[in-house]
Amino acid sequence: MLKPSWSFEFFPAKTEAGHAKLRQTREQLAALNPEFFSVTYGAGGSTQDRTLDTVLEFNPLGVSTAPHLSCIGAKPGPLLDLLHEYRDAGVNRIVALRGDLPSGMVGGSGHFRYARDLVAFIKEHFGKDFHLEVAAYPEMHPQAVNYEADLRAFASKVEAGADSAITQYFYNPDSYFHFVDRLEAMGIHIPVIAGIMPITNYSKLARFSDACGAEIPRWIRKQLEAYGDDSDSIQAFGHEVVLELCATLIDAGVPGMHFYTMNQAGPTQALLQDLGLIAE
Ligand code: FAD
Repeated sequence: MLKPSWSFEFFPAKTEAGHAKLRQTREQLAALNPEFFSVTYGAGGSTQDRTLDTVLEFNPLGVSTAPHLSCIGAKPGPLLDLLHEYRDAGVNRIVALRGDLPSGMVGGSGHFRYARDLVAFIKEHFGKDFHLEVAAYPEMHPQAVNYEADLRAFASKVEAGADSAITQYFYNPDSYFHFVDRLEAMGIHIPVIAGIMPITNYSKLARFSDACGAEIPRWIRKQLEAYGDDSDSIQAFGHEVVLELCATLIDAGVPGMHFYTMNQAGPTQALLQDLGLIAE
């Protein structure tokens, strides 16, 4: 059985206390030998500076750190400046996204309409300087016209030069297997890293999942709901569910797992330990 890689996602902290916690989390997770870290980017570039600062702080510390970069509403000049700054600082991986439309903005306007346009833009200006990750949606992007159209949209990102993909999180492994099979049938062979969301807080997860179109299967939702405010039980059950999901993916040969850490080390570390991928 092939051992998958693992990588960790953070969001930029807003406060000094948040920074201190994130630095501590980074240190704990850096010790687990991840393939890379990534740092999210707010819709419409609202956290652009904080993403940049976080990446420039973390990247030299031994684990390659990839900024997420969204293109909706972006102008080519400032985007080029930002990409030059990243490259000159030794950043070699970018998560290239369209991003979500800020409220009030009409879809499809501006220089970049889709993530594919950003991928093509980075390839045109930087060739192979960056390894480009793109987003994938085994349960379909919520705004896609239909599943087939979403697959074609994904294929267009690969044709534009994406090197690998990270999925939206999911709890039904069949959605991932089906997605990867469909890509194989289309002759698309780039690695599709599974996005893994540890379950630690039900109400936040439910809100998130409704917004991004990630399904929480009924049998999981019902049990989490029944635990109410009992966060110990939510975490224990969530750990078992996600552990089983990861084990199923590993058995099937998933190339990598990207953990949405929510800036917490504990839940992700416990999963990797119980999967036998890192020492206790
Ligand atoms: P695209 O691939 O451009 O797709 C967007 C929609 O357009 C899809 O419905 C697709 O089917 C459709 N589409 C694409 N091309 C075409 C075409 N040629 N014709 C018609 N329709 C088309 N958001 C953030 O704001 N910040 C982040 O840091 C962030 N990180 C993320 C990380 C991961 C791993 C994932 C999975 C998502 C992340 N997101 C983030 C969310 C993402 O920005 C949203 O899901 C966004 O709505 C779509 O971005 P995309 O790059 O997938 O867009």
